[in-house]
Amino acid sequence: MKELSASLAALVHPDERAAASRSLGALLGGRDVVVFLRDPDARVLLPAPGYPQTLPAPREWRRLLDTCMANTEARADSIVPPDGGKPTPVYAQALGADCVLAVIGTTTRAPLFDELQPVFPLVESALQQERMVDFALAEARVANQTAAHAESLARAFDQSRLELQHALTAAEESHCELLAANELLQDQAAELEAQADELQRANGALALARELADSGNRAKSQFLATMSHELRTPLNAISGHVQLIELGIYGPVTPEQSSALERIDRSQRHLLGLINDVLNLAKIEAGRVDYQISVIPVSELLADIAPMVQPQIVSKHINHVLRVEGSHLEVRADREKLLQILLNLVSNAIKFTEPAGRIEIVASVDPLASRIVAFRVIDTGIGIPPDKLQAIFEPFVQVDSTHSRRSEGTGLGLAISRDLAHGMGGELTATSTLGHGSEFVLSIPRA
Ligand code: ADP
Repeated sequence: MKELSASLAALVHPDERAAASRSLGALLGGRDVVVFLRDPDARVLLPAPGYPQTLPAPREWRRLLDTCMANTEARADSIVPPDGGKPTPVYAQALGADCVLAVIGTTTRAPLFDELQPVFPLVESALQQERMVDFALAEARVANQTAAHAESLARAFDQSRLELQHALTAAEESHCELLAANELLQDQAAELEAQADELQRANGALALARELADSGNRAKSQFLATMSHELRTPLNAISGHVQLIELGIYGPVTPEQSSALERIDRSQRHLLGLINDVLNLAKIEAGRVDYQISVIPVSELLADIAPMVQPQIVSKHINHVLRVEGSHLEVRADREKLLQILLNLVSNAIKFTEPAGRIEIVASVDPLASRIVAFRVIDTGIGIPPDKLQAIFEPFVQVDSTHSRRSEGTGLGLAISRDLAHGMGGELTATSTLGHGSEFVLSIPRA
């Protein structure tokens, strides 16, 4: 009896529970004992803390224990382990309000069993307390984990809050910068608007000025045309009278008179040439020139030029070459105006080349633009200073404009020629080396 109470008391201590369970089991005629307590949450009986949690064939155990609790009777049975091993004999009885004591290893009730009845409630309550402590510990562990988790969350939150604050500060700064940029943009927009207004005013003034200039130009061209026309009539009359005097119609003419008449005639022709050029230029500038564009074979054109310049070339003993590079070369141009330009270029070349010099007139496809035919007039004449190379295309510009110059001319030929070239979709350019010669290139669209 003393042994029984000692084992029962030892059952209360978790450390001694295994040994106590075995000695109590032996005292009760079995192998060991297990105390099952009702779990209030799961409403099932579970081994008290310290006993193995997984006992064989739990469902059979449960049925056995539940019947014990329901009838508060003792039950004896054999439980088959889940692995299908040898059945385990069990003797179980509900001893307390919420617990069953099972003796494993026997199905018989030991005589000592009844002695347990009065003390067992104490064991039961001790084991229940223990379970509650276990529960509390588990809960405390969970609470601890939750607290740790909450702390790390709080730290992460703190970090995010800091980052957010930084981002907010940066955003505020950007906002300020944006506001400043916006202000600047608004200022610039206002300035641009003011400039646009000014530009519009300037454009208006420009359009007015252009209109005035155009009307002035038209008036000038009209005036020049009229004047030229009016001047040509008396000039032709002068020429007629000079010829009549030279023919002796008004009496014999002395050699001195004859040479004076010749000078008068030369001056009259020069003046007439000048007037014709002025009239030509005035017409071009007034846009009153019609271009009769047709397809012209280049070789035919050069063949036409040759006899026209032959007398000047022969009189100055100039060597000359006329050449067409490529067969069936044709251009799209106004034949008369193309001839006028080429004659002007060749006349200039003859005029500004010393006797025994050389002139080349070459027509070929432009090596840089296959849709263009280039007419090159090359001479070995006096050349043109680099600073005058562009100016000679302006009206009335001559390299040597002094009265003592040797060559005749009005300074209008190149200006007219370039305008005519433009009028036919072409171009006229020049290159030259002073003292060595010049090259004029007339570019005309190829047919
Ligand atoms: P003009 O020959 O009647 O003076 P142009 O307009 O034809 O008028 O020529 C303008 C000037 O360009 C000439 O006075 C001359 O100084 C210069 N010039 C033109 N062609 C040549 C050339 N082949 N060699 C040297 N100078 C030239």
